Amino acid sequence: NRSAEGDAHRPVAQEVAELMRALGVPDASWRGGARQSRSPITGETVAHVAEASAAHVADAVTRSVDAFEAWRTVPAPRRGELVRLLGEELRAHKAELGRLVTLEAGKVLSEGLGEVQEMIDICDFAVGLSRQLYGLTIASERPGHRMMETWHPVGPVAIITAFNFPVAVWSWNAALALVCGNSLLWKPSEKTPLTALAVQALFERAAAVFGTAPKGLSQLLIGGADVGAALTDDPRVPVVSATGSTRMGRIVGERVARRFGRSILELGGNNAAIVCPSADLDLALRGIAFAAMGTAGQRCTSLRRLIVHESVYDTLVPRLAKAYASVSIGDPRAAATLIGPLIDKDGFDNMQKALEAARAAGARVHGGERVDVAGAADAYYVRPALVEIDEQVEIVRHETFAPILYVLRCSGLPEAIKLQNGVPQGLSSSIFTNDMREAETFMSAEGSDCGIANVNIGPSGAEIGGAFGGEKETGGGREAGSDAWKAYMRRATNTINYSRQLPLAQGVSFDI
Ligand code: NAD
Repeated sequence: NRSAEGDAHRPVAQEVAELMRALGVPDASWRGGARQSRSPITGETVAHVAEASAAHVADAVTRSVDAFEAWRTVPAPRRGELVRLLGEELRAHKAELGRLVTLEAGKVLSEGLGEVQEMIDICDFAVGLSRQLYGLTIASERPGHRMMETWHPVGPVAIITAFNFPVAVWSWNAALALVCGNSLLWKPSEKTPLTALAVQALFERAAAVFGTAPKGLSQLLIGGADVGAALTDDPRVPVVSATGSTRMGRIVGERVARRFGRSILELGGNNAAIVCPSADLDLALRGIAFAAMGTAGQRCTSLRRLIVHESVYDTLVPRLAKAYASVSIGDPRAAATLIGPLIDKDGFDNMQKALEAARAAGARVHGGERVDVAGAADAYYVRPALVEIDEQVEIVRHETFAPILYVLRCSGLPEAIKLQNGVPQGLSSSIFTNDMREAETFMSAEGSDCGIANVNIGPSGAEIGGAFGGEKETGGGREAGSDAWKAYMRRATNTINYSRQLPLAQGVSFDI
């Protein structure tokens, strides 16, 4: 708690109120509503948010279908103009929105601002994409024929988001889905409604400047799992993009599949890094520290398992333990703080349970205890835990959404890759090595089985240019860059006959 001491901060509730007004959020949406909203910085209640019920969802979907029917006919580059304007609003309000992310999700300020930067970046990406929604032309087997594929808007897209990236995840989906010609229905985490309200206000400003966006093009539905479930079950919503726990994804994925909808699932990770004998240990130490302790271990891509070659174990792990013992923990608004609070008591309890299970399995645990921060008795600050363990027991194979890093020893790359892949999740992974053969093997078909495989950087902190997502229990979805946009469109294959004959495919004859 050293970093918090000596830093005078204004009351969180007062700051929240100022930021909500600066961001143009109407008072009625966050004052006097039924749902209490708290800040993890102090644990205090900072707002009372008005909620939607499952009954509101049907009306919202009706409006969304109407908006979609108008929006799909707007030329894609013109749709890109709305996303460009959204990016401009985000640029102009980056400081306020980034600080609100810090107040509501508890991230340190540079990460709150980084989250808004990511929103700006995906808007830029989507503006370019709005002129590049390319389909193929295909060689036809018939004379005088041409084949091609065209990509069309698909319909209302539901976006269900998690607390830990309260606004960026919406933007990865929203920016692409909008240029693809779809309408949006956003169900944010019940733990982070205020940043969602702020983003909705910025979207509405962008839409007002744009001038001709259909009403209801992007709607916000604040509520709990019941609101998410109503969206999941509505057959008028062809795409449901859901980010959160594997538990949630298992329910959403099954329900959407039952009605033949499409889901984009971005679920839990259990990310590993392998440290090889040739690794640059200074660089590895920094990469590991950020990936494992940053965001208080509350990123889907947080480093949770470290697999260290026995020849460097005794050099690296004591240095890491020192970093764990000295890292600054406290109010995330303070410039010196590196580790902010856990989101709530459940997050803390889950962490303690996992540490107990690890101890019972014979692990040596460094850190992990609650840290008192002045003026924040109802908040949950913890010292990140470094857990040396001999085997990849059940608790290690499970995602605990807290700063716990399990450290395992290995004797070679094949064993390391087997350990790394030996968990149900498949989001992100990395290797620290200066051996080209090891790096390439790790990224090859017999290497990491994750959606993200990095070399000489940690598993967290992806750029938006690549497709983001993972395999196995992580859900298989891809968002953001590369060709992730295709998930928000439907593909039509067209065959055009410009001859005077009617040859049938595969040489079939049918003369009448
Ligand atoms: P969570 O699963 O508790 O909630 C996520 C969202 O799902 C919330 O909006 C919640 O209201 C909604 N939800 C819950 N049950 C639902 C249901 N039955 N039907 C419809 N919606 C439902 O997750 P969380 O605690 O907010 O976030 C942490 C989890 O999210 C971690 O597992 C983390 O790894 C994961 N995550 C994954 C990614 C990724 O891109 N893979 C990104 C961020 C977070």
